[in-house]
Amino acid sequence: MSERATPFHCPYCGDEDLRPSEIGHGAWECASCNRAFKLSFLGLLAKGLRRSDAGEGEGRR
Ligand SMILES: [Zn+2]
Repeated sequence: MSERATPFHCPYCGDEDLRPSEIGHGAWECASCNRAFKLSFLGLLAKGLRRSDAGEGEGRR
């Protein structure tokens, strides 16, 4: 399973001129601000899986 995380904007300057870096897997370079950064998947957030229909809105009226 290949991990593909493609950033659309530079997290530092917000530019879209990103290209994959040769530094390593998941590394990207921003041509605008000359920064290199790396994306890595950390895991799923538990609260992100919480459903809205779990009876949350029922106590209040
Ligand atoms: Zn940038």
